[in-house]
Amino acid sequence: MGKKEKQFVAEITPMEVDFAQWYTDVILKTDLVDYSPVKGFMVIKPYGYAIWENIQQYMDKRFKDTGHKNCYFPLLIPESLLQKEAEHVEGFAPEVAWVTHGGKEELAERLCVRPTSETIICEMYSRWLKSYRDLPFLYNQWCSVVRWEKSTRPFLRTSEFLWQEGHTLHETYDEAQEETLRMLEIYKQTAEELLAMPVVTGQKSEKEKFAGAYATYTMEALMHDGKALQAGTSHNLGQHFTTAFNITYLDRDGELKNPYHTSWGVSTRLIGGLIMVHGDNRGLVLPPRVAPTQVVIVPIAAHKGGVMERTMELFSELKNSYRVELDDRENYSPGWKFNEWEMKGVPIRVEIGPKDIENGQAILFRRDTLEKETVALEDLSGRVQTLLDEIHNNMLYKAKMMRDEKTYYVNNFEEMKELMKTKPGFVKAMWCQERECEDKIKEGTGITVRCLPFEQEKLGDTCAFCEKPAHKMAYFAKAY
Ligand code: AMP
Ligand code: ZN
Repeated sequence: MGKKEKQFVAEITPMEVDFAQWYTDVILKTDLVDYSPVKGFMVIKPYGYAIWENIQQYMDKRFKDTGHKNCYFPLLIPESLLQKEAEHVEGFAPEVAWVTHGGKEELAERLCVRPTSETIICEMYSRWLKSYRDLPFLYNQWCSVVRWEKSTRPFLRTSEFLWQEGHTLHETYDEAQEETLRMLEIYKQTAEELLAMPVVTGQKSEKEKFAGAYATYTMEALMHDGKALQAGTSHNLGQHFTTAFNITYLDRDGELKNPYHTSWGVSTRLIGGLIMVHGDNRGLVLPPRVAPTQVVIVPIAAHKGGVMERTMELFSELKNSYRVELDDRENYSPGWKFNEWEMKGVPIRVEIGPKDIENGQAILFRRDTLEKETVALEDLSGRVQTLLDEIHNNMLYKAKMMRDEKTYYVNNFEEMKELMKTKPGFVKAMWCQERECEDKIKEGTGITVRCLPFEQEKLGDTCAFCEKPAHKMAYFAKAY
């Protein structure tokens, strides 16, 4: 590596030195986002937006395959609707942005910018639902919402974020519960099969559940710095909203009943997650299935006879099957380009020069392991496919190893506090599930209950923190 090229890579703060700065350097230098003139609101640039589009495409198909349809509800919600479900309004009131004027005129009723759309959707559902024959309602919308967050970080926590929100109605509690868990499972598969990001799934504590929910389920991922990220949530809302909004239907037995209700969402936070799970000190390492560019071709000694012709041929061939970029910029050296594409996390780089062409081959470089291999040109396209899958699998495996290395058991609060100071991560412990105990743990430490995992381990009979009887094991961590 030449001196100039080293300097170029060195522009990213090493994650061991300052993880937060590493994250900021990576997202800005790889052109994923930019800050906007409004505090807490981010601009998603084309390279970042393309990742979101790939996530959307995969998830949208999964939603449609499970019977859901997309629709769109308004951005603004009348205050009176927001007020209808007591716990919901209490939970969201501190984060709501209000529209008070239209032009110069003050509105008769304030309108809130949706922080989530249960209320307006329930208002409409109450008009639409008539009979049990109409059920289930299986709708989803892709949109943005606004929550006036106190501290923000691009992707991870922004005041406006892009997301999808599913809202469904069902005849029975069991059906609603089944739907809640089905969608969480789709989220988990999205995390693991698309983003190579392993997650722990389980139920939220009473304190951490969604405002107005009967039960909230979550997937939690562990970042490189040992902090957890709530990567998606699915709520069984019971009949809380359907009673408050007077949503009724005529049932098979001729009686008017309230249906059961679910909602579920993931957001652009997923992009923050994949950056912090896979990234390294050279920059991004993008999971192949969402990488905007899966393969970049860099010609070597491009001015030499035949190089550009053969490169163009290869480019057209690969373009049919993959998201490919040809870097034929003349004002940059191959070495400089290598560094830039490594920083941008492109999974595979193809290097092709006069010698390679003579030998009928090219060099494949993989970003996840930084290894090179030589491949015959006629085998290249096929090899790219298997290599993309290998890279995905390796990234998922590495992320699981990283998570497992940072997952601990503790027997008491002192042990947990000490661990979190020296080597933060997931802590598994028996827990009493009482609010008072949860508050005490969080106080002064910032450690929260991430979830009561579906995969339980019986570590004892008493709470590791207050020694009251405990029936469940919980995951604890500091969280984003
Ligand atoms: P909720 O409706 O509160 O359950 O949120 C659904 C999902 O959106 C959460 O699980 C997070 O992954 C994500 N999310 C919540 N708040 C934010 C935020 N301020 N910025 C980005 N994503 C968020
Ligand atoms: Zn306890």
